[in-house]
Amino acid sequence: GAPADVRRGLRSSSLWAVSREGVTPQSEDFSAWYNDVVLQSLLVDRGPVRGTMVIRPYGYRIWELIQADLDAKIKEAGHENACFPMFIPESYLKREAEHVEGFSPELAVVTHAGGKQLEEPLVVRPTSETVIGEYMAKWIDSHRDLPLLLNQWANVVRWEMRPRMFLRTTEFLWQEGHTAHVDEDDAMRETLWALDAYEKVSRELAAMPVVPGEKTPGERFAGAVRTYTIEGMMRDGRALQAGTSHYLGTNFAKAFEIDYQDENGELTLAHTTSWGMSTRMIGGVIMTHGDDKGLVLPPRLAPYQVVIVPLGRKEQAETTTAKAHELAAELKAAGVRVHVDDKRPQLSPGFKFNDWEMRGVPVRLELGMRDIDGGVVTLARRLPTVEGQGKEQIPLGEVAARVPAILEDFQAFLLRRAEEFREAHTAAVDTWDAFTEQVAGGWALALHCGQTSCEDEIKAETAATPRCIPAAGEAAEGACVKCGTPSAYGKRVIFSKSY
Ligand code: AMP
Repeated sequence: GAPADVRRGLRSSSLWAVSREGVTPQSEDFSAWYNDVVLQSLLVDRGPVRGTMVIRPYGYRIWELIQADLDAKIKEAGHENACFPMFIPESYLKREAEHVEGFSPELAVVTHAGGKQLEEPLVVRPTSETVIGEYMAKWIDSHRDLPLLLNQWANVVRWEMRPRMFLRTTEFLWQEGHTAHVDEDDAMRETLWALDAYEKVSRELAAMPVVPGEKTPGERFAGAVRTYTIEGMMRDGRALQAGTSHYLGTNFAKAFEIDYQDENGELTLAHTTSWGMSTRMIGGVIMTHGDDKGLVLPPRLAPYQVVIVPLGRKEQAETTTAKAHELAAELKAAGVRVHVDDKRPQLSPGFKFNDWEMRGVPVRLELGMRDIDGGVVTLARRLPTVEGQGKEQIPLGEVAARVPAILEDFQAFLLRRAEEFREAHTAAVDTWDAFTEQVAGGWALALHCGQTSCEDEIKAETAATPRCIPAAGEAAEGACVKCGTPSAYGKRVIFSKSY
């Protein structure tokens, strides 16, 4: 296609029509829509190496907003941030057999550096249990050193075969929590604390109504005893794993000799956990709320919560632009992230309105001479929050007082809408026919035998995998939907195609 700046009409407003054809409608081709949206809304650019991405300022701001909230939660609960090296001696990974087996296919390994072959290859961290385990062993002597609560904000590398912007990139940003505890009880409390923090970030910031639950054995993290996840439903009915928390038992403690003297002076193995949330979350926001026109950003994660578009030409533009900046200052003082679109006089108002809609800005304020003369501004939401809602006029003097509540309302509306969408695309099924039909476009709640081989057959036939055993699921028993043997888990499992 045409270069992005041409498609977006930045060179000439006569290219407006071309730009409007830029985003493939979501309803036509979800995957093409996603790719168009992430590039055209200026969230990312393609990286120079397959599977990599450049996170542009508009996308990075969203990450910073997620990061700020999650980091505060992590610190509030007593964790401390640290930073470990990105190169890990290959031998460290080999110490935990399941861990190295699970991660081997995805590792990037440095064999040469400084012009020479290295004596020992170095793995670019895919996750840091091993290197952090080595230092936990060194730092922990007594039960008084526990719990040890660490977190790291970092980039990690996993050589992904089917990369997709944000969702699965070879290099991604995340936080990884790593903690050590005296026993299973304390470590499990930690594991579930992290899951709860992720659920809160998802619901409260991203307006994503995720379902927390445990992964089945076949879907566990390599080296974990138990893996917990939050799963969100995207607007094509697929699931996205938006965060995971692992109880690692004593697996890594054994491999790295993370032990401590208990109160009786006995040498005891620590129980460890790890948990991560990544830039994938941004992909989740895009696919939970976006529509045919492009992005829809929840206000709490929107780089610009409000954009003001001053209208008119020449002297009129001077007047409306000056007034727009006055309004922007008032909104900023009220804690609103606001932007004035005054640097693109070559573009028509219609182009600008569509552009900001495509880029997902929750609220747009249009300010023309007629508005100013009437003492008002015209407010348009990215989506109507009640049926039939259109643009409305707000007295200029009331804008700063009213907009914060309008944004909160929009945030709540998105969560509600996503919840309703998920409900409408989820069904309990008891026959194989109903199962295959349901996972074609949504989530199936099904009884399952718990056998990994049976999960594999289901995946081969339908592309659906067990997403989680929902924590809040009702008690249920019966025959496995696929093989008919008695169900495991005592409740229904969510099956779905996923990202
Ligand atoms: P894990 O360490 O595999 O449990 O993953 C921790 C978090 O990172 C989960 O929320 C994953 O969904 C996410 N994640 C895993 N691989 C990738 C990737 N290639 N790109 C972006 N996020 C990822």
